[in-house]
Amino acid sequence: MKLAELQELERRWVVHTYARMPVEFVRGEGARLWDSEGKEYLDFLAGISVCSVGHCHPAVVEAVREQVGTLTHTSNLYLTEGGVRLAQRLCESSLGGRAFLCNSGTEANECAIKLARKHAHGRGTSEPEIVVLEGAFHGRTMGPLSATPGLAANPSFAPYLPGFRVVPREDPDALIAAVGDATAAVMLEPIQGETGVNVVPDELILAAREACDRAGALLVFDEIQTGMGRTGSLWAYEQLPARPDVMTTAKALGGGLPVGACITNEATMDVLEVGDHGSTFAGGPLVAGASLAAFEVIDDPALLRRVRDLGGRFCEGLDSLDGIAEVRGRGLMVAAELVGADAKETASRALGEGLIVNPIGERTLRFLPPLVIGEAEVDEALGILGRMLD
Ligand code: PLP
Repeated sequence: MKLAELQELERRWVVHTYARMPVEFVRGEGARLWDSEGKEYLDFLAGISVCSVGHCHPAVVEAVREQVGTLTHTSNLYLTEGGVRLAQRLCESSLGGRAFLCNSGTEANECAIKLARKHAHGRGTSEPEIVVLEGAFHGRTMGPLSATPGLAANPSFAPYLPGFRVVPREDPDALIAAVGDATAAVMLEPIQGETGVNVVPDELILAAREACDRAGALLVFDEIQTGMGRTGSLWAYEQLPARPDVMTTAKALGGGLPVGACITNEATMDVLEVGDHGSTFAGGPLVAGASLAAFEVIDDPALLRRVRDLGGRFCEGLDSLDGIAEVRGRGLMVAAELVGADAKETASRALGEGLIVNPIGERTLRFLPPLVIGEAEVDEALGILGRMLD
């Protein structure tokens, strides 16, 4: 089908919630995508950090191929091995408690919000509050949407869930002042991805940890974008001065398939009990198989070291380009602030040059390449950007 025909069909049949680039991808391999006209692209977005193992990683393909012909779904009324093994792998690699598996990032955060509220009720707090940061993005269903200050300002979907208190991202004192007896949790992304790859300062992370400990509240990290190796450690918190009590993750967790998880520490692993939460599709054998295969690829010290090295190489390269005012991020989660150029227009031109990058503000480009790229791909992307911004 021609691109124009597909666009026409989409306009007629798909709810208009997405502003899509004019391209139809039909195939992917590693860090490369091909469109319906056979043109090749270098993918520096990886499906918004979902395809961290690259497109169609052979181990993920094999796991899915084998599982899809054996057993795909039974519901959570019964046991299947993959979901249990995935929960074990998630907990053993992080907070040591238990995992609730789900199908997306926003659902992982719904689970964390319910867990934090129930935990607070257990302490006798009747109207629990969750403290969130300005610039946060926690998802699009009503709970996480209410925790996302930039979106919860939109009157179209009011009333929002009550009980979220917003503090600045870089003001530890304001956070300390906002945490008290009513606080169920402080919820934050170690690096805010959707609103500009803004690194939350260590001082704020430490202040949040100490304030939560004083109040008996939970520190919840949303590692939906930062997790699974993106920043050069399996979990971003490993490079921070504090550990969360509860963590959510999704995106790269499924190796390209939809999986999310809310992971607890030992102290909070019994908060949610039978009947408190559930999901029909969650943790089924097909997605669990894909996820375990992705874990095997990413949870590798050599790969994680390369993510840090390549991230450094890419940031240095960006820094040296004309037309870039600021570069920020960690590992292969990077943003560049353009001097004069419009980010959307620059991303469109890059697409024309065969490079996929993501505009996330008037002047901000975001880069989330697959974690399996090499020096050659980093240099190729820098070459294209350099020529374009020159
Ligand atoms: N939290 C963070 C930090 C995210 O980056 C995202 C998605 O971009 C979400 C939550 C929501 O995830 P999903 O789109 O899978 O619901």
